[in-house]
Amino acid sequence: MFLLEKHRSLPAYTPGDHEEGDGFIRLNTNESPYPPSPGVKAAIAGEAGKLGYYNDPDCTALREALAGLYGVKPAQVIATNGSDELLYFAFLAFADETHPIALPDITYGYYDLFAAAHGIPLVKVPLKADFTIDYRDYLGIGKTIVFPNPNAPTGYVMPAEQVAEIAKSNPENVIIVDEAYVDFGAETCLPLIEEYPNVLIVRTFSKSRSMAGARLGYGFACESLIAEIETIRNAINLYSVNRMTQAAGVAAVKENDYYMANCRRIIEAREYTTRMLHEQGFEVLDSKANFVFAKPKAMAAGVLAAQLRERGILVRHWEKDRIRDYLRITIGSMQEMQALECAIEMIFGRA
Ligand code: PMP
Repeated sequence: MFLLEKHRSLPAYTPGDHEEGDGFIRLNTNESPYPPSPGVKAAIAGEAGKLGYYNDPDCTALREALAGLYGVKPAQVIATNGSDELLYFAFLAFADETHPIALPDITYGYYDLFAAAHGIPLVKVPLKADFTIDYRDYLGIGKTIVFPNPNAPTGYVMPAEQVAEIAKSNPENVIIVDEAYVDFGAETCLPLIEEYPNVLIVRTFSKSRSMAGARLGYGFACESLIAEIETIRNAINLYSVNRMTQAAGVAAVKENDYYMANCRRIIEAREYTTRMLHEQGFEVLDSKANFVFAKPKAMAAGVLAAQLRERGILVRHWEKDRIRDYLRITIGSMQEMQALECAIEMIFGRA
């Protein structure tokens, strides 16, 4: 065993199951049920012949495209290998053994791993009993802060004005607002970057833009904060966004209408699913993401997840305090959600 002692107790991240092409309905990893747009596929094919050449380490075309779409300057944009990489760079840039990170106790599991791998202490701030984040808990906390907005796995959103209060009261620290799920109807905190030099917005092409497998994340912040994060990338992996992914990202921005239409379909399917789950006796949190967090009353959540799996439907369940009674169900196409409805009716013996 050569692994350093300090790494041996690293927690394992358990991603959702990845069965592919074997007939499973995948409502467990918050992917899009819709394929990438035609321009994306063509852009990837167009790059294949150029693989012998290094990709643009500055992601110039992609940053320009994103800047145009969102009304910011290219220097306020960063692109990374998935948003996980941007989170990782930000953790390395702004936290270490003596600079802890504050975050909700129930949130995206990867933050724990990044922090553990680099000896970054975490200050876990409990969600309120109703699973919302109380922004007042973070006022003047004096630490780097990270949370998804909407939060995962709850789907709850913190209004931008509350995020602004957090940023204002912690001027010496960076507030990382992980907007992985923002395109499904939540209010963005993007305008805050103009006023607060300590706000970093993290986004991804994995959810709303059907590119989870391409690994493309992006972020917005004031120019100097972006430059600081680029310092970390330069030291770790300069060419981290490959040329096919960069071209795919540019094409996806050009075809943005297609993706926003898909988001509207997912929002409709989410509303349908929320009503359906209520009718089936679930308690359902009011999500603004492409998933719902729901508590079945008729059966233990873990048992229901196992029974859905037997019927070919994957959902997410965590055997963890506070949330073991809940399932996180990704919102797929309307047909997939109707298949879920049929399966639940069968399991509950109501069909
Ligand atoms: N943030 C949150 C809250 C997520 O749920 C995920 C997806 N698991 C990510 C970031 C990372 O997404 P990706 O690396 O695919 O961009």
